[in-house]
Amino acid sequence: MKVILISIALAMGSLGFAQTPASRATEKSATIDDAAAVLIDHIMDAVGLKANFVVKHANVANAAATTINGQRWILYNPYFFKKLIAATGSSWTAVSVLAHEIGHHLNGHTLGRKGNSHENELQADEFSGFVLRKMGASLDAAQAAMQVLATEQSSATHPRQSDRLVAIERGWRAAAGEKMEDVATNDRAEQKKKEQTVLDSKDIWKKIDFAADRKADYYITTGSNVVMVKDNELRLLGVMKKTTSEDVPYIIEFLNERRVAITATGKIVNSEGKTVGSVM
Ligand SMILES: [Zn+2]
Repeated sequence: MKVILISIALAMGSLGFAQTPASRATEKSATIDDAAAVLIDHIMDAVGLKANFVVKHANVANAAATTINGQRWILYNPYFFKKLIAATGSSWTAVSVLAHEIGHHLNGHTLGRKGNSHENELQADEFSGFVLRKMGASLDAAQAAMQVLATEQSSATHPRQSDRLVAIERGWRAAAGEKMEDVATNDRAEQKKKEQTVLDSKDIWKKIDFAADRKADYYITTGSNVVMVKDNELRLLGVMKKTTSEDVPYIIEFLNERRVAITATGKIVNSEGKTVGSVM
């Protein structure tokens, strides 16, 4: 198990360091794809299967599973992974996102078979929970990515967060032959949520005021994460980074790859030079 974790750490290290914004050298790309392939091999080892996916960095939002002419692909955005790991402080989050995509392949979701997309997502989530426990992750580690990436508001394609957390837990328990208790699982997830303080005041560094959205609260945490709190829910939006400029000492990199600058006077300025908010 130790060997696996070390090579995961190494693979994630390569993914993390492999970022050069504009032109990415071909050899470098090959290296990060090799690193991702190593991770995928570990994930498949955990379920006793052989990987038959081509793994490639791509301009996708985070990661995606697709089949083209019979070839199974896993596409991923290295930049997203780097930020996800930085924001959560855990490489398990990247493993769980990849495991989720593999779950889509193994459940036949990429073969054009029609199905309820919420059901497909929950099956892929369950698979990721299963794999992560097989690889040695705690339940918290298995759920860490979903805690920051999903929202309690479901969409046409994605179920609400509490259902997805339950699906991961179901898979995680199944990996050790355990069953979910017979209590209403949604209620349990809901209750667990209420027990947690969404954002402790000691974890807040600054409050952000975005002129365009005053319905939610935005904060920069002491760990340099940029988060939104709405309806008592916490959502990770990006990370703040220090620059070498005195006039613009910080930038915020959002998970959707947008960037804004924070000036020395606390103004938040977008890429078109427009002031969109302030830091208090
Ligand atoms: Zn999915």
